[in-house]
Amino acid sequence: MTDCIFCKIVAGEIPSKKAAETINVLAFYDIDPSAETHVLVIPKKHIETFLDLKKEHSNILSQMLRLTQQLIKSEKIDRKYKLVINGGEYQFVPHLHWHLLGGEVKKQV
Ligand code: AMP
Ligand code: ZN
Repeated sequence: MTDCIFCKIVAGEIPSKKAAETINVLAFYDIDPSAETHVLVIPKKHIETFLDLKKEHSNILSQMLRLTQQLIKSEKIDRKYKLVINGGEYQFVPHLHWHLLGGEVKKQV
């Protein structure tokens, strides 16, 4: 999607600090971290919200989950982490993502 900030990050048109990636998934550090570690995990394909996930996305979803597990280990946050998905009025960027927060949480996502 041309007007989507996260699609632009995937395309390299907007800079980001990459944490990890697979063929279908990108993880990058949040620009305004809410916790000591704050990574966003997104599908490279534009899927708007959590509710738009369908059976056909099962491969993408399993890559998102697997990459998140790997990040919890590589970021060394396995003793203190949480995953957050915002939706509706809580979701500011209309490209599916979840927040991986680790260590001390400073503010709500
Ligand atoms: P949400 O409210 O779930 O849509 O959260 C969107 C998140 O994207 C926020 O935590 C923002 O700080 C983060 N964000 C917005 N623009 C960028 C960007 N260019 N690079 C990294 N993170 C961003
Ligand atoms: Zn997008």
